[in-house]
Parts: sequence; structure tokens; C-alpha cells
Amino acid sequence: MTPNHRDRAVVLGGSIAGLLAARVLADDFAEVLVIDRDPLSPGAAPRRGTPQARHLHGLLARGLEVLEELFPGLTAELVAVGAPTGDMLGRTRVCFGGHRFRQGPSGLTALCVSRPTLESVVRRRVVALPEVRLLGERDVVGLIASRDHRRVVGARVIGRADGSAEEQLPADVVVDATGRGSRLPIWLESLGYAPPQQERVGIGVGYASRHYRLRPEALGNDLVAISAPTPGRPRGGGLSLIEDGRCLVTLMGVLGDHPPTDPAGFARFAADLALPDVQRILRDAEPLDEPVAHRYPSSVRNRYDQITRFPDGLAVLGDAVCSLNPIYGQGMTVAALEAAALDPHLAHGRTREHRREVGRISGVAWAMALGADLSFPEVEGARTPATRLLGRYVRRLQAGAEHDPRLGRAFLRVTSMVDPPVALLRPSVMVRAMTPR
Ligand SMILES: Cc1cc2nc3c(=O)[nH]c(=O)nc-3n(C[C@H](O)[C@H](O)[C@H](O)COP(=O)(O)OP(=O)(O)OC[C@H]3O[C@@H](n4cnc5c(N)ncnc54)[C@H](O)[C@@H]3O)c2cc1C
Repeated sequence: MTPNHRDRAVVLGGSIAGLLAARVLADDFAEVLVIDRDPLSPGAAPRRGTPQARHLHGLLARGLEVLEELFPGLTAELVAVGAPTGDMLGRTRVCFGGHRFRQGPSGLTALCVSRPTLESVVRRRVVALPEVRLLGERDVVGLIASRDHRRVVGARVIGRADGSAEEQLPADVVVDATGRGSRLPIWLESLGYAPPQQERVGIGVGYASRHYRLRPEALGNDLVAISAPTPGRPRGGGLSLIEDGRCLVTLMGVLGDHPPTDPAGFARFAADLALPDVQRILRDAEPLDEPVAHRYPSSVRNRYDQITRFPDGLAVLGDAVCSLNPIYGQGMTVAALEAAALDPHLAHGRTREHRREVGRISGVAWAMALGADLSFPEVEGARTPATRLLGRYVRRLQAGAEHDPRLGRAFLRVTSMVDPPVALLRPSVMVRAMTPR
């Protein structure tokens, strides 16, 4: 172990991106402070700052790999707290593009854990690092800059308790991980920097989720059933066994076709999915709570990677950079990859290379999500002959996956961010996808 050679990093936001950033920074800094407005208590309860945590959070296979690299033994720890695990295609019923994929081995691991439990286990690991301190119940209100504004040298925070005074937290590096609502563009402007260009894709997603206890054997040997919204059928949903023997059911609709939160409406919506299993399984399942809703109007990408004037000593990652359509389950994996990339790129507080790398990582996920979103004719965005051709090819591949688990495997390896999208164009995959059936 090399001694930490810099004094202090301050991470703004203590959710997944912030915790993972803290884990990486602890290798290099004597002290890492993580600030959040929520209490950040040890339990696995949903928090106000992460309302999305009540809904199904699939962890992509690549995300699990990165988490395991950052916290060796994490998978086993999650399994020990009751998270079911199994092969992603072998024990999952998936329906993409209206095609139910044939099950078979994929070599990819599905780890079925609720978001609050995943976050609490990661938080426990991070808190155990001697360098890290979590400071909850504090609002970040701004940055502190050097006299010439060329460098960020700390953050300003105010405790949430009545009468709290502003605290100044000096730092060698500040990392913004405050999520989609990040105020960094405004803070940059107040220091005389231009805010990033912002890209948006209106997708009008609505979620509703509810916990159930399933009848024994209701899912057979399987763990998950997922039915993705498709053009012409904007309703989707999924259910997953999670820890404590519970099952989390999330229904979703795009383009404003949102699942209702009254129990009868929730059940009716489930009946409209391409995969009939969800409704069938719910018919004799015992609901454990009332459905809760979440609205997600648009995906947003802040192009910090394109900014030429940016202060030293400042990095930004996670949803604060790019908030991805949640249907594709990419957000935590992208945050994990971006946090892991802090390591080689923060030398001397210069964060330009890290911004570029974050732009690259989030750009790959953004392009995949956009390609899928643009298959809905109602979604606004530029379509080129190449994207149309690719869309047709992916639909063909999904149809082939009904019969050929190798095509399902190739598709899931890409959507799980294990393989790059171009892997779908390998001759071995193309020949199978184009084989007439
Ligand atoms: C409905 C829904 C479903 C999703 N499903 C999936 C999925 O299946 N798989 C997946 O990988 N991802 C999913 N995501 C995305 C995932 O939740 C995020 O990508 C992930 O949480 C990483 O986000 P983050 O840590 O950058 O920000 P967030 O999780 O939004 O956390 C931001 C943190 O910053 C704190 N904060 C914000 N402002 C301040 C402030 N001024 N002062 C102090 N603290 C502050 C908040 O309290 C919060 O803790 C989903 C998202 C949504 C909305």
C-alpha cells in the first residue's frame, strides 16, 4: 500500500456515483469527505435524495464487474444478505422488441438486489475505509475558487438543522456527484465559466412499482421477467426476486402512457405487456405495499467533455453529467466506470482527461439508449439511413433470439456494456441474425 500523497478530496453527493468516487479517491487522498443532504444512516431504507431507489434497479454485468474490482467479495456479500443470483439469460425471461428470448447460458451474472440494499452495502464498505468520512444532512450550496478562479479549492455546505451556519470545506479536488439536479452549470457561471451544452431526448417515461410475495415456484427456477416497451406497445415492465424473499414489480410506459398507482389499474396495465408471465405471476401473488410512481420526462447529457475552459481541481460524474433513460438500466454501471476512471486521471488536480473519459463512457451508453429510443417514431431526433438500417438489423437479431440463445447472449453482452455495440456486427453474429427462419 502506497501512502496517500494528497490531503483532501471532497465528494458532493453520497449516492452510488459519490460513494464509488470516494472509494477510488481513498487510494490517493489522506482524507475523503462525502457530503449529502440525507442522513446516510447505515440501513437500507429509501432516502429522499434518491426517490428512484423504490423502483427496479438492474445492475448490468459490466457494472457488477467494476463493483467487484473496487470491493472484492461484494457479490458474495450481497448474496449473503439474500440477493438471488444466476445466469442472465439462463434464469431470466426477457422480451425485447416483442420477442421472447430463448433461455440459455450467457456467462453473464444477474444479481437481483434492491437499490437501497445495494447502496447500503456499498456505503458500509466505503465507510470502513479509514480515509473516508460521510457528512450527511448538509446541503452543498456552492464551490470555493482560488482568487483567479482557475482552480476549485473547496466547497461550501450548510447543515440542514435550523440555525446551521455555512461551513467551508477546503479540498485539493472536488467531485460533483449530486445527480441529475446538479447545480454545477450555475456554479460554473458564477465563477465566470460557460455552462456545458445540454442535449435532451424527450421520452416521457413513467414508472410504478410495488413489492409482492410470490407463491412458491411461481417463477420456477427463474429470477427475473422483463418485457421492454417497443414501438406500437409503449407499455413494459419487469419483476425480480430480491432479498428477503420479496419480489419487486416495476411497470413502465413511455411517451406519456404511464402505469397507474391504484391496485386495479396497476394490474390492468400489467396485462398489456408483451410478456404475459408478469400478469400471470401477479395473479396469485400477495401485495406487500401500495404502488409508488416516478416520472422521468427526458434523458439529459451535459457536454462537460466539450468545454475548453474549466477550472482545475474539479471533476463531475454520474447522473450530474448524463441522466440516461432508466429503462435500459445503465446509470449505475456508467457511474461505476466513471468513478474507476478517476484513478489515473486526477494527477495534480487536472481533471481534463477525466472529463474526456466521462464523455466517452457516457457517450457509448447515450448512443445505445438513443438508438433504442429513436425506434419510437414519436421520439424527436435525427435519424440517418445508417441508424435506420441498424435499427432494422437489431430488430432482426431480436427476432432471431427467440430461437437462438447465442443471439440473445450477443445482445445481452452489448446491452450489459460488457461488449462494445460493434460486437453485434461480428460476422458470427450477423450470419446467425440474417439466417431465414
Ligand atoms: C426510475 C429510475 C430507475 C432507474 N433504474 C436503473 C437501473 O435499473 N439500473 C441502473 O443502473 N440505473 C438506474 N437508474 C439510474 C440510477 O438511479 C442512477 O444512475 C444512479 O443512482 C447514479 O446516480 P448518481 O449517484 O449520479 O445520482 P443520484 O443517485 O441521483 O444521487 C445524487 C445524490 O446527491 C445528493 N444531493 C443532490 N444535491 C445535493 C446538494 N445540493 N447537497 C447535498 N447533497 C445533494 C442526493 O441526496 C443524492 O444522494 C434509474 C433511475 C431512475 C430515475
